[in-house]
Amino acid sequence: MSTVPPFPIWLEPAWQQLLQSWRDDRLAHALLFGGPAGLGKQRLAERLTGLLLCATPTPAGDACGQCQSCGWLQVGSHPDLTRLMPEETCKAIKVDQVRDLCIELGMTSHAGRYKVAIVAPAEAMNANAANSLLKTLEEPTPQTVLILLSEAPGRLLPTVRSRCRALHVGPPPHTEAAAWLKAAANIDDPERYLRAANGAPLAAADLAAGEVLVAREQRLRELIAVHQGRMDPLKLAADWYTEQNTAVLQWWSQWLQMLIRYKLAQVSPAETEYAANLCEIAASADSRQLFELSDRIMATVSALNSGLNRQLAFEDLLIRWARLAAPPGLGRRV
Ligand SMILES: [Zn+2]
Repeated sequence: MSTVPPFPIWLEPAWQQLLQSWRDDRLAHALLFGGPAGLGKQRLAERLTGLLLCATPTPAGDACGQCQSCGWLQVGSHPDLTRLMPEETCKAIKVDQVRDLCIELGMTSHAGRYKVAIVAPAEAMNANAANSLLKTLEEPTPQTVLILLSEAPGRLLPTVRSRCRALHVGPPPHTEAAAWLKAAANIDDPERYLRAANGAPLAAADLAAGEVLVAREQRLRELIAVHQGRMDPLKLAADWYTEQNTAVLQWWSQWLQMLIRYKLAQVSPAETEYAANLCEIAASADSRQLFELSDRIMATVSALNSGLNRQLAFEDLLIRWARLAAPPGLGRRV
């Protein structure tokens, strides 16, 4: 517990709302926490789960941390908590997994309190999986709570969405995020990490904690090398497509937004160390190419969970990136 930063202050209003619903005995049986990554949807879900499963919650509404239920939670083996996620990274949540979950939720609670399921990312459920969840959403067993987490709630089936109580988790004001990182997560240079994490404080804390920032700069250097013709886009695609997360695409999308802002409004790229390179890339491309590539990257992020050929997708994107530099008429169109 000591390595986990304290509960984020910007989640407090959402938490109080959930707590009040629980105290009034009107907590929805299905909740949908939506919003960008790195803002604390998971923390909110974990805190609520702790409260629902604990035998003796504190007067403030937190899990006691002492009872048998809290002990099970701490070691990750609570029989009344199911975590539903893709069996393989970047793959879909399958219909069989959802069926098993529905059976589990239909059974009586082991500890005599709630049964809880956390589905993350909820948009990873394929259509069959989402459909098989509908019955449970429509006719829930008493004392069950389903918590769906999603960075893209708009991609869930409307029938699933409409049966959930939605709660949006948005970013805190920049100064609040920076202050929290400094005080709660002991980060001396919060601006640097917030910039890299698109303003998402928990993602920024993760960046600071790990080697991710180093990897991110490496990726940017590789993109610059491809643009300058010093690196083969196909070779780079072969390195990138095997990565198990979408971070490189999210970063790339950020850099494209910087190029677009520079192109359209002369806003200097926030990557101070590489600003000159990025300005050069922006100058060599036209706005339409930049918008198109940005759209394609985001479409690729969305499609990664749906059986997309990752290698071909990365090759296509990197070839388009390399062609930003090509003189007019020389292979700029595919
Ligand atoms: Zn407890």
